[in-house]
Amino acid sequence: MQTLQGIGASEGIAIGAAVCISTRIGDIYQIPVPENEVETEIARFLEAVEKSQGEIKRLRDRVGDEMGDELAGIFDAQALVLSDSTFLDSVIHHIRSERVNAEWALQETVSEIQARFDAIDTTYLRDRQEDLRHVCRYVIQGLRGIHLHQLSEVPDGIVIVADDLSPTDAVRLGREKVIGFVIEHGSATSHTTIIARSLNLPAVLGVSGINRMLVDHAEVPIVIDGSTGQVILYPDAQTLARYETTLAERRRADLELLEDIELPSETTDGVGVQVMANIDLPEELEDSQRFGAAGIGLYRSEFLYIERSPKLPSEEEHLAIYRRMVEAAAPHPAIIRTYDLGGRKIAREVMETHEANPVLGLRGIRLTLARLDIFKTQLRALIRATIYGDLRIMLPLVTIPEEIIEFRRVSEEVMQELDQEGLAFRRDFKLGVMIEVPAAAMISDIMARYVDFFSIGTNDLIQYALAVDRSNEHVASLYRPLHPGILRMLRLIIRNADEAGIEVSMCGEMAGDPKLTAVLIGCGLRRLSVSPRRVPAVKRQVRMLTSAPLEAIVDQCAQLATAEEIEKYLQEQISAANTS
Ligand code: PEP
Ligand code: MG
Repeated sequence: MQTLQGIGASEGIAIGAAVCISTRIGDIYQIPVPENEVETEIARFLEAVEKSQGEIKRLRDRVGDEMGDELAGIFDAQALVLSDSTFLDSVIHHIRSERVNAEWALQETVSEIQARFDAIDTTYLRDRQEDLRHVCRYVIQGLRGIHLHQLSEVPDGIVIVADDLSPTDAVRLGREKVIGFVIEHGSATSHTTIIARSLNLPAVLGVSGINRMLVDHAEVPIVIDGSTGQVILYPDAQTLARYETTLAERRRADLELLEDIELPSETTDGVGVQVMANIDLPEELEDSQRFGAAGIGLYRSEFLYIERSPKLPSEEEHLAIYRRMVEAAAPHPAIIRTYDLGGRKIAREVMETHEANPVLGLRGIRLTLARLDIFKTQLRALIRATIYGDLRIMLPLVTIPEEIIEFRRVSEEVMQELDQEGLAFRRDFKLGVMIEVPAAAMISDIMARYVDFFSIGTNDLIQYALAVDRSNEHVASLYRPLHPGILRMLRLIIRNADEAGIEVSMCGEMAGDPKLTAVLIGCGLRRLSVSPRRVPAVKRQVRMLTSAPLEAIVDQCAQLATAEEIEKYLQEQISAANTS
């Protein structure tokens, strides 16, 4: 038995078998091959190529059957690389002329081709590079005699172990037989984590070295606890029994929380706090209703693009999903955020460029306005969906008022088109912005003149204000929502919204932590949007608090020097206020 400690990122316990899908395949060493074995090495390489071709064909047929020919085409491109004689000859040439092992020769060839690709950066060639990397991986696995498993082939109860996982892969894998994720990189507010929460799967991140430990093992018995961050390999019978009991207790506690979802979300002194749901994937709509959310505070529409990739969603697909959102949220509003792609959320159909620093790059509203050709399809559907209920549109990563002005210009254009086509819509829909860039927070009094509501995106706001990458486990301990600088910023945004008479809510992960509910109420927030499963716990916390002293407590907090001092002060004050 071996216990490893990571960061608990998405709650829950998973007990099952771990399958390592590390995207790195270990170090490749250059090994000299004796002259009389060169031909055998070439034959070994060609055998691995043949094996990989079979593997790719198998995958192609399977994907073709399950998902249609268009997606299966991806594998055709990969098969093409493997039958390209220039490619194969180049590897053979390296083996022969340098007398090296096939793995090394293959890696050399791939690096040479990639260097040529790098000089011309287009989406098409980037995709071909990805094909090349995948093909290289198949062949190396073939050379090592590792059978390539597909997730659909493995038995139920799989915990995915990976060195890194894009949000896109997390969506796809999470919907298969996966019961949990262990990822070496990433942190509690990274998008991959958010997806794990959306799919209600436990996730532990920042477990350094686990891939290296598991890469050559088939299915390793594992227990992961997404609350404590513990990962246990080869658990003994006693440990297994302990976790089975904890799992049963937590399920009971969850059911208990469900019992009082009908109770009002109100403090002991009658202050109402609306708790809405953050939705990433349509399957969460049912949860948001079951867990008693009062509307949808954030629909991350970019996942629609990520799910449909490599196809772009059509206007009718957009419309159908927004209609579902609005109808599910009624009588409350559904706030749909225009696609927030870029950063780590990549859909190649929308992004053209390769960026050195994507989190500070063409993402959110910037990308939206740069790709009006694509965005107009979404906007037409959003505006058309306003006839089904209280649909509100929200723009991500707004930094300057000009972005809102430009959005309004484009909306006017779209509404004129819809009018001419005789399509129905409501002109008076509400428009809001995410406040998630520190400069936008500092000018939130000005921003408020242009919109009907704010939603505070603390995931990014904290990342940018504290200069801490939200997906980097090495600086996860510096990611402090209670840093006094953050508290001051929150109070400023909320005060500016109140003074301008516009609504303000919070939809970052900070809103879903019951330990922080008192601070948020003390800051003046009366609307929170959290992942659906967190709604009951946040509402229960609201009911336990008395709001009257909280504002003064938060006033004091903002004068303290560190997050630790604030946490300590809060604990003392809140327990005193609630026992007096
Ligand atoms: C945020 O930044 O807080 C937010 C809710 O948006 P996302 O997590 O999608 O960046
Ligand atoms: Mg954000």
